[in-house]
Amino acid sequence: MIQFPLVILSITFIFLLAILLKLRSRRRSLAIPEGQEVYQDLQGKGRILRSVELGISGKPDMIVRKGRTIIPYEYKSTNASSPRDGHLYQMFAYFAILEENYPGQSIPYGILKYRETAFKVHNSSENRWKLLSILDEMRNSDRHAIRNHNNRGKCFRCSFREVCRQSLIKPSGNPQQDDSHPRT
Ligand code: SF4
Repeated sequence: MIQFPLVILSITFIFLLAILLKLRSRRRSLAIPEGQEVYQDLQGKGRILRSVELGISGKPDMIVRKGRTIIPYEYKSTNASSPRDGHLYQMFAYFAILEENYPGQSIPYGILKYRETAFKVHNSSENRWKLLSILDEMRNSDRHAIRNHNNRGKCFRCSFREVCRQSLIKPSGNPQQDDSHPRT
């Protein structure tokens, strides 16, 4: 005769296993890397992370740690057949920001997830050079790519707003009207 507590234990085990499998399959479908979530901003509640050295800031949607490896994850609700330039620069900025916030850890790549597709973006010296180069242009001239929007919310959420001369947000955080030089 099967004992009652054993039945309860078996049902609980099956129930927990089902939840675990469901969570795993959800992570896989969202291309979330395996590991422990050490930061989350999917609901907009993550703290702002900064690179003091470069004067940039950002809030990745998620940061996953596996051993000594740190992986930023960014989700975009749009679709794209290849990563968009602005999203790539955002990821390059995250690499620099996380290197300051997680010293001594390895940050080999980040995941850029669109609705249907996901891309691995490498933290390479070439991509760092691209980041430093655009930051230099943003700081030192008005010649960098032309802003093509007047969306202050976009500038407010942008990692580059503190160095971008075409930002619609003043350093104080107040919106600024500057329609004279539209940029990406
Ligand atoms: S114009 Fe706004 S969104 Fe574009 S790079 Fe500058 S701060 Fe960012």
